[in-house]
Amino acid sequence: MSLNGGLVWALTQAVGPAHVLTDGDLSAFEVDWRKRWFGKALAVVRPGSTAEVAAVVQACKAHGTCLVPQGGNTGLVGASGPDASGTQVVLSLGRMNRVRGIDAANLTMTVDAGCVLQAVQEAAAAQGLLFPLSLAAEGSCTIGGNLATNAGGTQVLRFGNARELCLGLEVVTADGDVWDGLSGLRKDNTGYDLRDLFIGSEGTLGIITGATLKLYPQPAAVTTALAAVPSMGSAVGLLQLAQARLGPGLTGFEVMGEFALGLVRKHFPQLPQPLPPAPWTVLLEQSDCESAEHATALFEALLEAALERGLITDAAVAASTQQSNNLWHLRESIPLAQSLEGLNIKHDISVPVSKIPAFVAATDAALERAFPGVRLVDFGHLGDGNLHYNVQAPMGQAAADFLRDCEKAVNAIVYDAVCAQGGSISAEHGIGMLKRDELVKRKSPVALQMMRAIKQALDPAGRLNPGRVLQTD
Ligand code: FAD
Ligand code: ZN
Repeated sequence: MSLNGGLVWALTQAVGPAHVLTDGDLSAFEVDWRKRWFGKALAVVRPGSTAEVAAVVQACKAHGTCLVPQGGNTGLVGASGPDASGTQVVLSLGRMNRVRGIDAANLTMTVDAGCVLQAVQEAAAAQGLLFPLSLAAEGSCTIGGNLATNAGGTQVLRFGNARELCLGLEVVTADGDVWDGLSGLRKDNTGYDLRDLFIGSEGTLGIITGATLKLYPQPAAVTTALAAVPSMGSAVGLLQLAQARLGPGLTGFEVMGEFALGLVRKHFPQLPQPLPPAPWTVLLEQSDCESAEHATALFEALLEAALERGLITDAAVAASTQQSNNLWHLRESIPLAQSLEGLNIKHDISVPVSKIPAFVAATDAALERAFPGVRLVDFGHLGDGNLHYNVQAPMGQAAADFLRDCEKAVNAIVYDAVCAQGGSISAEHGIGMLKRDELVKRKSPVALQMMRAIKQALDPAGRLNPGRVLQTD
């Protein structure tokens, strides 16, 4: 039996022959969402339980084979698929999609890692509870992937990142042992926080198989408004005013540049855009514990005050859930609209909210000087200081040529500006392969040394998602 034959046989023993895929079209597991990385798997393995994950990891260990954990494969940084060598096993968690239990009095829920985010939201809602993590990929991304990337999304302003929504984890280690760290405790100071090591580790330290998540009461009403804003400075002014008036009721504050919304108009003309084009458009969401009428009245008073102060030039408050959904649809269609327009150079950055106007002004100007006519698909979670500051080729230049010839120089301009403002080169998508080399340039040697020591301690043979986050060879 060949070396690979031996491993495939062992994998088949672990999960059953139907769940070890080696032939046919495996591109759904091998190619990333943006179609930027094309890998080749030795096999795709689909375990159905934590014990089966442990058996797969042990089989790979025995054969010296590397593993790439995968959830919904919606990641954007080149971390969820195999490399092109044909020697790595993709461990797909999709079959592990059970809600293990909901403790309504403790406001917690324990789920398998392969549960799709939307299914988790729906299971919570069925008990009258809220799991607030929300992102445009929620119909296919999984809780395991959300935690492994410490996903952000549109509710971070009020509820925090995936990390803040997780109380406990179950993890299969690189040796194939199971760590049962599932816990519904909000207080537990018993030494180093292992949970927080695995959250955000992008599959490089262990395989998340289960999680205990925080739930919240469902709000009585959720209302949405759109506001046209003359400048980024005004958008930040509007945020301050909204925070002062609505307090924790302000659950979403998203900004969209005119070029980004223009792409939505072009590629999704059927989506209504209730406001005329403006330099920036802000989507505000308010969750209210009283009623929809109360929420609408608060929103209208806020927008009137903003209009008087010149922070906004126009506004529309959604009058129904359908209208609210339509407004969110506009925001959530931007990633798809920009991918239909062609590849661009993506930056998922954060700077302190107060510094965003200066960052945008300086970086827009520097890019225009270096690449006249360059177009900016600029949008994101302004309430968190997180922009998706994406750079599209000037009109008439092929996207592929622009990426090949200009990506390095564009990145240098953007990331230098981010660092000058005390920001981060990855706000919510992670590092993967996309930003691995940039990380080495931007993180302190002390931080990198501690990260390498953690990797060495938990995965000394470097078999879990090698080459992602840190260069390991
Ligand atoms: P994958 O893509 O399958 O994997 C992502 C990483 O997690 C990989 O490193 C993988 O190895 C690791 N991993 C996956 N499952 C496990 C596991 N069980 N154990 C250990 N490691 C694991 N992200 C945001 O943060 N905010 C957004 O607003 C947002 N919007 C998006 C919109 C669109 C349209 C798309 C396509 C993506 C968006 N993303 C966003 C990125 C992506 O959806 C998130 O990173 C998501 O958390 C990935 O989940 P996944 O299940 O698809 O993980
Ligand atoms: Zn985002």
